[in-house]
Order: sequence, then structure tokens, then C-alpha cells
Amino acid sequence: MELDKMDENDWKYHGEGNKSLVVSNVQHARVLRLLKYSTEDAENSHKTTEQAFRHIQNIVDYSQNVMKPLLGEKFVHNGEAVKLPLDFVRQLSLKVQQERPESRCDKVMDTFSGCALCLPNLTQLSCCCSREHRPPLCIEIKPKCGFLPSSRHVTKEIKHKVCRFCMHQHFKLAHGKWKRLSRYCPLDLFSGNKQRMSLAIKHLIEEPQNNFKIFKGGECIYSCKDDADVLQDVDELAQHLRPYFLPSGSLMNGHQSSKVVLNELIQVIVSALLSSWDPRKTRLSEGRVRCEASLPHRDLLRNTNHCLPKDCVLDKILGTQMLDSLDIEGLNPLFKRVEQHLHDFPKERSSLQIDGPYSQSFLEKIQNCPTEDDGSIEYAVRKVHQYRVAMTAKDCSIMITIATCGEEDGLDQSLEIQPSKPHFTYSVSILDLDPKPYESIPHQSRLDSNIVNHYLRSTLPNN
Ligand code: ATP
Ligand code: ZN
Ligand code: MG
Ligand code: MG
Repeated sequence: MELDKMDENDWKYHGEGNKSLVVSNVQHARVLRLLKYSTEDAENSHKTTEQAFRHIQNIVDYSQNVMKPLLGEKFVHNGEAVKLPLDFVRQLSLKVQQERPESRCDKVMDTFSGCALCLPNLTQLSCCCSREHRPPLCIEIKPKCGFLPSSRHVTKEIKHKVCRFCMHQHFKLAHGKWKRLSRYCPLDLFSGNKQRMSLAIKHLIEEPQNNFKIFKGGECIYSCKDDADVLQDVDELAQHLRPYFLPSGSLMNGHQSSKVVLNELIQVIVSALLSSWDPRKTRLSEGRVRCEASLPHRDLLRNTNHCLPKDCVLDKILGTQMLDSLDIEGLNPLFKRVEQHLHDFPKERSSLQIDGPYSQSFLEKIQNCPTEDDGSIEYAVRKVHQYRVAMTAKDCSIMITIATCGEEDGLDQSLEIQPSKPHFTYSVSILDLDPKPYESIPHQSRLDSNIVNHYLRSTLPNN
């Protein structure tokens, strides 16, 4: 990519989240991730080029030095901070505007700094594989938090029984964020039990919200459409998938084939999520395996193994999420201790690495944290750091890229599955690994109690 010869015609809208807008290159397997800011505080959000570049470099350092060692070398691509010509960025912003979903237009793309994060396009495979075969499929899952808190600081019993995602669904429905409840429960996905995992993925397909997307040849073919007729979408999806999962001579048609095709897709996703080179297993402790909001399949819980293959993508993400060992309720007093300390000794903000730098020593602080509170500022800071890293792992996305391959083709670093069916290879990555701001902790604390109180009020009428 020649940064001085950028042409907006080489790039197209790819997708966006709450913090950034992503465009993909039409020829190369690359994306640019540009920051967004709210139109309301446009004044305050303006950063100079240097500030914006520093901010993006911080994200790169954080993925490389902190998240990569925690989540695993093979899953994380840290990307590169780049400075783009302002003219290009402005043209690009105009070009993508009409493609943006209305619900995301409360924020605008940063067209002032010219800075962006350049990453490999994980919805495409950079290797040769798909030359004469079908375009690759990519499944994106935002799994959210996969365990129930066991912290003794938790004051509301319900938090030990119903997971955060399931409680949050009720809150979002009441506040108009979504029109239907999702039946997805992260504890099913992270259970390691293939039946429960399949059910979780089925629920993601039924109601993708912003937790599930499918790309074909780099184009998004399935994601949430709030008003759409869901059933029709699923049939359309099955049409797309048919050539990948049903032999071309298959006589099956209509509803029956849709079911078979979606089931095959689910099986491939489950295999990818559980694949690992390490034969050992990580046992999940009893406390964190069941969510009472995900009731219909209680019978599935009886004979489950409740373990994840060590070092599979779910094991790595769950292990990192569990760095939040105190829960926000136990963390909040420690946050206040840090706040008080920074108030008394403002110059220590940088030596305590509150806003980075996200270096090797930041990682060491997270990895070597005493289990007992000795009342020190050092302990409090380490717990706050751990909490923020866990928040990143609760918000990341898993990308599973699947390609069909001829016998002779082979993919490095990916596994072959289902050798008797159409030949598949896949690779698994994790994206969206931004540091979560220190300042957002009080907001997290309020949000947590709002969600829990709302859940108690709306689902348990006698409380
Ligand atoms: P969130 O609101 O989830 O925090 P965000 O604003 O931080 O999102 P990302 O999740 O990084 O933004 O990117 C938005 C979307 O763009 C992703 O959900 C994904 O579909 C797509 N995307 C991001 N990075 C890549 C990549 N490297 N390759 C392919 N697609 C990508
Ligand atoms: Zn749940
Ligand atoms: Mg995201
Ligand atoms: Mg994000």
C-alpha cells in the first residue's frame, strides 16, 4: 500500500462498531479501521494528528504486548498505525456515508487526523486457496462474557445464577436497543459441550444482533436487520451455503436442505472453536457452567463434560475474561483507592501506567498480581489493569475463515476438517482488541447495577 497514492475508489465500506468504521481494499486482503466520534462532542473529540496517531499506536501496542501473549500468538494480528492523506480520508468518508446503517450514524468518521489502523482482512484468506474454488466464508462471533462471577463481593444473588448477557438482553429490549430477545447464552457457547454449543450458535443465527455475522468472499451476507423477516433471511442464508455443504448432486430441496446446510455450518463452527493442538483439557468449575436464563435445555447439562480443549480459542478468551476475578462490585473500591491516590499524587499517573504505555511491564503487572489485598496502591492498580484487560476479552470478536480446498491445496496453520465431505480448511483469529478506558469504570459500575435491578424488577415480579 503506497500511502501517498491512496485512491478512495480502491476501498469500500466493510462494517463498523461503536468505536470504529472499517473499509476494505477491493484488490488486496487489507482493511483500514478508522476511529469515529460522537457528533455531540465533536469539539472535544478533535485530536491533533499526533494525538490520534499516538492513540492508534497505543491500540497496536496493547494488542501486541498485552493481548497477544494472553490470547495466543496465532490468533492475534496487531496491525499497523498509518497516516493517510486527508484528501483521501474525506473522499472516503463521503463515499461510505450512504452505506452506513442508520443506527450507527450518531457518530461520524474521523476525517481530521488522517490516522488509521491497517489490518489484514480476516474475512478473506490471503493465500491462494480460493483461486478456482468457492469464495471463502467467514463467521464472526462476538461471544461476550462466558462465566458467572464467583466473587464474594457480589451483593445480588442473581448474578451467581443468570449471566450478564442474558440479563442485559432484558435491559436492551426495555430501552429499545433491540426488538426481540436473543436466546443466545454465552455460557452455552463456552461450555465445551457440543450440543450446548450448537444450540448457542443456532440461537445466534436466529437473532444475530451484533454478535454474529457471516461473510462470503469478503462481503457481509448475514447480520442483524432489526425489522427483517427472520425466517426468510435464514432460507436465503442457506441458499448461499448450499454449494459449500451439500454435494452438488443432492436431491434434497427446500426446508429440509436448509436445515441440513445450517446444521453442517454449525458443526464446522463448533469444530473450529474447539480446535487445539494441545491434547489437555481445561476443566470448568461447577460454579460457572450454567445460566438459569438459558433453561430450555437443562437436560443437556446432566451428562456434559464441561471442559474446553486447552488453548482452543474459547479457552484463551475465557481465561482472559476471568482476570476479572473480583467483579465490578469488588473492583469499584479499588478504583476509588487509585482515584484518591492520583488525586494526591497526580504525577504518578504515568509511572502507574494508567493510560499505558502498554509494554511488557504492563503485562507483567497483570500476570503477577497478589491474590490478597494488602491495602497498597500497587495492588489496586494491578486489579484495575486486570479488569480492563478482561473487559477487552469480553468485547472481542472471533473470526473463523473457512475455505474449500482441492486435495492438493494445503493451508499453513489451519486444520483440515471433515475429510470425507467437501474439503475445508479454516483459520481462527480474534479482533477488536482495544484497551478499555480507565475512566469508564464508574460507568461500568452504574450500568451493572442498572442491568441487575432492571432484571430483578422485570422478571421476578415479587422482588
Ligand atoms: P465494537 O462496537 O464491537 O467495540 P469497534 O468499533 O471496536 O466494535 P471492530 O469490531 O474492530 O470495531 O470493527 C467493526 C467490524 O468491522 C467488525 O465487527 C468486523 O465485522 C469488521 N472488521 C474489523 N476488523 C476487521 C479485519 N481485520 N478484517 C475483517 N473485518 C474486520
Ligand atoms: Zn446466560
Ligand atoms: Mg467489535
Ligand atoms: Mg471495540
